Amino acid sequence: MAKKQDKPQNIFNFDYSSDKQDRPPQEYYDQIKEKFAEERDLRLDYRPPGTDSYTSDLTGELAKYATDPYGHQVEERETLNDSVEVLFIGGGFSALLTSARLREKGVESIRIVERGADVGGTWYWNRYPGVACDVVAYDYLPLLDETGYVPSRHYAGGQEIYQYCKSIAERFDLYDLAVFGTTVTSTVWDSDEEVWVVGTDRGDSIKARFVVCANGTLSKPKLAKIDGIETFAGHSFHTSRWDYEYTGDNLQNLADKRVGIIGTGASAVQAIPELAKAAKELYVFQRTPSSIDVRDDWETDPEWAASLEPGWQAKRRARAIEGPRVPDAVKAKRAAMSREEKIQRQENANIDAMMRIHKRIDEVVEDPQTAESLKPWYMLMCKRPCFHNEYLPSFNRPNVTLVDTKGEGISQINASGPEFDGTQYELDLLIYATGFEVQQTGIYNQIIGEGGQDLNVKYGDGIRTLLGIHSHGYPNLFIMGGYQAFFAFNLTDVLNSQGEHIAECIDFVRQNQIHSLDCTYDAEERWVQEVIAHRGKTSRNRDCTPGYYNFEGAENRRQDGNYNGTMKQYLDHMSEIRDKMSEHFAFTER
Ligand code: NDP
Repeated sequence: MAKKQDKPQNIFNFDYSSDKQDRPPQEYYDQIKEKFAEERDLRLDYRPPGTDSYTSDLTGELAKYATDPYGHQVEERETLNDSVEVLFIGGGFSALLTSARLREKGVESIRIVERGADVGGTWYWNRYPGVACDVVAYDYLPLLDETGYVPSRHYAGGQEIYQYCKSIAERFDLYDLAVFGTTVTSTVWDSDEEVWVVGTDRGDSIKARFVVCANGTLSKPKLAKIDGIETFAGHSFHTSRWDYEYTGDNLQNLADKRVGIIGTGASAVQAIPELAKAAKELYVFQRTPSSIDVRDDWETDPEWAASLEPGWQAKRRARAIEGPRVPDAVKAKRAAMSREEKIQRQENANIDAMMRIHKRIDEVVEDPQTAESLKPWYMLMCKRPCFHNEYLPSFNRPNVTLVDTKGEGISQINASGPEFDGTQYELDLLIYATGFEVQQTGIYNQIIGEGGQDLNVKYGDGIRTLLGIHSHGYPNLFIMGGYQAFFAFNLTDVLNSQGEHIAECIDFVRQNQIHSLDCTYDAEERWVQEVIAHRGKTSRNRDCTPGYYNFEGAENRRQDGNYNGTMKQYLDHMSEIRDKMSEHFAFTER
């Protein structure tokens, strides 16, 4: 019998084909859908369009929200003016797992350039109390076959993942050439020498034959644009820059503090239970509640760990990509449904899941008004679903107050703290759990390709890539975790396949005595059309409450998003492209 550890995570595969007898009538579902639409419109009416309600320009008075609170160990060093074969912008999982594949192919000269003081990316920056990953650790942590490591829990904590990142860097000798506390500010193609020239905020000028943009999908913290944000006289920071000097390592310094937190996304959901235990008073400023499901966590069974056979993770990943096995009878039933019926059944099953989440709130949260406020009114997956067993009970504590702004959000802060609906909240500490910029390839960096074209300028007329990885006119440059690639709940599934693809491409160049590869205009155009063909087949995104999954409710070009085919289709495209490299790439020799 399959053990619980072997079961794949399955959070949004609704069985919409079953004909349950006790289903409520369709009017019940239609009424809930109407409420979803009302709640979405309420939020859209309050906000400026799209991402305009946020700023990630953390300079001037806001610069303190971006500074690294952990990086005291970054040392002064000589300016670099040297050459490497492969340069990674960013030192998170993208760089680590791709480097491992490159080492397997014999690539020696690999440099990571990283803004933080160590590798780890997300797991370097996000050290807020309670930080953990909501993706099953046996799937999320990459290279488990290669390292022989077995995560200690079903859902690994942030500290464990961060340590694991460092162990990968050690194992594959990635510290040798790495530079930390360094931000890449320009990446310019030198068409005479056919190398990238990478400039940094520390005055470096590094030549690299291959550059991999491995800067993450959610890396640059953003703040809500709130009037008076800079006038707050207490202490404040962003969740990804946790100030343990202020809070104490175990939050012990908060025992006499009035603490506020703005935002109730996945980061806040993990931090709030810890803050609730430690703070004298905690105020949670909510604009939209997250969906909170049960967190089915346990310590890894040592017997199971010992029984794992070589290659177990690769097999597990392959199974996850294949998806659950659907019996033929169910397949036939689905095939016989009209498109409309299929969509309606899927929506109804989704609503059932959301109502189960509502029911749990009623069961756990004692104050009926607070319980009502914590209920999310949107389809599951409109926002990142959250899993926690202590979040909802936190609101039963006498020191915790939920300030439900009912979709409006906090729009005013003064020296004492936020003000909402005529009430002034007097705080010692205000924490921003307001998220990150999403999937920006360049982030801090200007990428200038052949003919002096800035990648952002090229993207100004619509994102153009092949597989989300290559862009015509940017030879030997690879993008990881960017738009036009597949996006999965388990991000490392995508990064893993992209890392393998990039390592294969680099190996192809090295093995075939060519110097560079650049995807052709036609190959890029075919991919852009493939992305367009798969996007927006339903009104699902438009119907969702605003959030970063749907560009905060803004309309955008069909090509400016992720590839919405299946993961399997994405991987099939990748291998077809690699089978016929010369049909998709132009090469140069030197
Ligand atoms: P999010 O972008 O998910 O959340 C930002 C929060 O700030 C939202 O609740 C938003 O409300 C709120 N907000 C913005 N402006 C205001 C305002 N003026 N007043 C009140 N509230 C406001 O950021 P997170 O850092 O929480 O999460 C980012 C992502 O990081 C996650 O979605 C997930 O992908 C990843 N993550 C993953 C974890 C995991 O376990 N795998 C754990 C933590 C993070 P609204 O919803 O109304 O926009």
